[in-house]
Amino acid sequence: MRVGIVGAGFSGAVIARQLAEAGIASLVMEERGHVAGNCHSERDRATGVMVHLYGPHIFHTDNSRVWDYVNRFAEFVPYVHRVKATVGGRVYSLPVNLHTINQFFGLALSPNEASAFIAARARTDIEVPQSFEEQALRFVGPELYEAFFRGYTEKQWGTDPACLPAAILKRLPLRFNYDDRYFNHRFQAMPRHGYTGLVETILSHPLIEVRTRCRHEEVTERFRHLFYTGPIDRYFHHAHGRLAYRTLDFEAERHRGDWQGIAVMNHPDRDVPFTRITEHKHFAPWEAADLPETIIVREYSRACTPADIPYYPIRLTGEMKMLTDYEARAAAEPGVTFVGRLGTYQYLDMDVTIERALDVADAAIKRLRQAEAVAASA
Ligand code: UDP
Repeated sequence: MRVGIVGAGFSGAVIARQLAEAGIASLVMEERGHVAGNCHSERDRATGVMVHLYGPHIFHTDNSRVWDYVNRFAEFVPYVHRVKATVGGRVYSLPVNLHTINQFFGLALSPNEASAFIAARARTDIEVPQSFEEQALRFVGPELYEAFFRGYTEKQWGTDPACLPAAILKRLPLRFNYDDRYFNHRFQAMPRHGYTGLVETILSHPLIEVRTRCRHEEVTERFRHLFYTGPIDRYFHHAHGRLAYRTLDFEAERHRGDWQGIAVMNHPDRDVPFTRITEHKHFAPWEAADLPETIIVREYSRACTPADIPYYPIRLTGEMKMLTDYEARAAAEPGVTFVGRLGTYQYLDMDVTIERALDVADAAIKRLRQAEAVAASA
């Protein structure tokens, strides 16, 4: 009997590959017409630019197992992600760093001066921030919070930042020097031929069969184990309610030349309806110079309805109770392992997704081998 894997994103692909290399065959069932999940990338016909169809994905990690792993399947080109923000008609450096502080307050502070300046504004009475808003007020103070975080976060999450978990903001660094790299990680790069090419290569193994446009509910084959990377609430027919997600709408425009000079421009202002604009050709600087045209994509966030693609798990307090109910059922579900962003309802970066999938596969291989040994000795 084969193993069944629902979903051909990073989680499903990595598990299938690890099992295949251990001699275990699997069937990967993917609902969409392509693999790679929301990392899917495709060349835009009109401009020739490689586009991340479900929004920008930048590979960054400190985990050398994950880094070595992805490098087995694709050529990665070093790429350091930088983001700017347009606020009130001016452009600022991000993530908030010494340049941002000096630009915003019209000063020329040194690192020590800036650190003292922000400390004087920060709400140091908040000892352990309980929400996104408290985290921001504690570390950057009210002015920078209002300018760079409040509006963006309200648009992105559709919720008052006072109700959102502090963990969301902890993704972003605050620096008192001129380092404007968006991520701190040691390894930062882009797969030369896109994420879909990478995932296709991971899945390319004689012991893996991939079926796209395939709903697993319609597959009658019996499996020795199922790895489920779809939404955990959907698996249980929403018996405890629907876990809330944000979905995204994208609005593309094509132009000549270079439209905004950088891959991502954030727009935190509340009166601008979108959150950011991505100019995908800047994700591939090695080919951008040869492309006379460009495609820019405005990103709008809104509540996810049953008909939409889920992107970001919101994880408000009410949902955490619902999630606990689903987790209890998942743990009791025989022969099924729930994995990945949708399977565990977590805001996971690609490297963490891969790391977890590798761990899940390690444990599963051990279990399946033990079961084989028991069956052989019986
Ligand atoms: N954020 C913000 N202003 C910005 C950029 C980010 O307030 O200019 C907040 C926002 O709540 C966002 C979170 O920080 O959801 C994490 O940002 P990141 O850039 O990591 O989001 P992603 O690229 O994963 O959507």
